[in-house]
Amino acid sequence: MATRRLYYDDSFQREFTARVLSCEPATACPSPQAKASSWQAILDETAFYPTSGGQPHDFGKIGDARVLEVSDRKDEIVHLVDRRLECVEVKGSIDWPRRFDHMQQHTGQHLLSAMFQKHFALPTVSFHLGTEVCTIDLRGQEPSEQVLEDAERRANQIIFEDRRVSVRYGTAEELTRLGVRKEVDREGVLRAIEIEGVELQPCGGTHVKGTGQIGMILVRRSMRIRQDWRVEFVCGGRAEKAARRDFALLRESAEELSCAQEEVVSALGRVLAERDTHFKNYRELLERLAAAEAALVLQSTPADSEGIRVIDRVFSDMQPEFLGLFATALAKRENTIALLGRMEGGQILFAQHPSSGKDMNALLRQVLEKTGGKGGGTRDFARGQVADPSHLKEALVLARGKVSGP
Ligand SMILES: [Zn+2]
Repeated sequence: MATRRLYYDDSFQREFTARVLSCEPATACPSPQAKASSWQAILDETAFYPTSGGQPHDFGKIGDARVLEVSDRKDEIVHLVDRRLECVEVKGSIDWPRRFDHMQQHTGQHLLSAMFQKHFALPTVSFHLGTEVCTIDLRGQEPSEQVLEDAERRANQIIFEDRRVSVRYGTAEELTRLGVRKEVDREGVLRAIEIEGVELQPCGGTHVKGTGQIGMILVRRSMRIRQDWRVEFVCGGRAEKAARRDFALLRESAEELSCAQEEVVSALGRVLAERDTHFKNYRELLERLAAAEAALVLQSTPADSEGIRVIDRVFSDMQPEFLGLFATALAKRENTIALLGRMEGGQILFAQHPSSGKDMNALLRQVLEKTGGKGGGTRDFARGQVADPSHLKEALVLARGKVSGP
């Protein structure tokens, strides 16, 4: 028996009395919500909206049972509940804040879609009512910032005018005559939602009574999804929340930047420019420091019997970039080899002036083979990482032994 859908004629009905026709264990149910302990109840009539047409189902209670999910099964509405219901008369009540939110979003969607269609020839090909934001997919040219803003402003104008939203019934033919834009190929009497003087749209969803109840539409952004344009928007309570959250973000940003809210963007620009300058200065100073330290070390390191200076050193508490700069500064001097490590992260770096005549890449590989780790480079410059930083000293001793000859 077909379930009578109370929400079809009165989407504001929150409570109802109905008879339970059947209640079966839901173990064989494919729904992800269904657990071993859930049941599928069918009533003679219901105010519960089942997931369909982009609008999610209602939550609520039937008797003492919690409603976990509501779905359409041909003419019947199946309520997934958390306990068994007796086949008697029961009271049902829907989670009203959730439902009203869905109504605000859904009517808002009809209105916004109508604006895109009417003024910008952008038809809506699908609608999704998410937990945070709602989206419509538009087909056609990319909607510019200007178009998004214009559609939003026009939709809000109709909200301010508080136009009547009503349910119409008719055959596909009758609805077409009344001005339904969408092609309808279903048989029998259909349901459509009319926004006074704006549009008529076949729809089985729940809607507010007047556009004023949508409250406000905020279009957030648009992005390409395959061949279409996905437009994100929020209505009513969600728009209020989004506006509040956006403003809090702006206020906090202004406080962080110690500026007026209107100046956040320019203040941020200044901060970023300062950061870039500081970074440049820091790099320069680090390079000069590396060069100065290299000069000192070179002065106090005598050449070995082959006339090569080998410098080995393990750093800790030093910037990671310093190792490379220091190695480069040392390797500028003829007949010099630098064998360096950094405790943090176990960085290891070998560099030489080409005149030293060794192969740093081969040397690094030989060492890492013994200590474990990875890395590589060129004949004059090779870097890597030892598996365990506590083996760094040992790795450098090993390397030194190899470059200092037998
Ligand atoms: Zn709809």
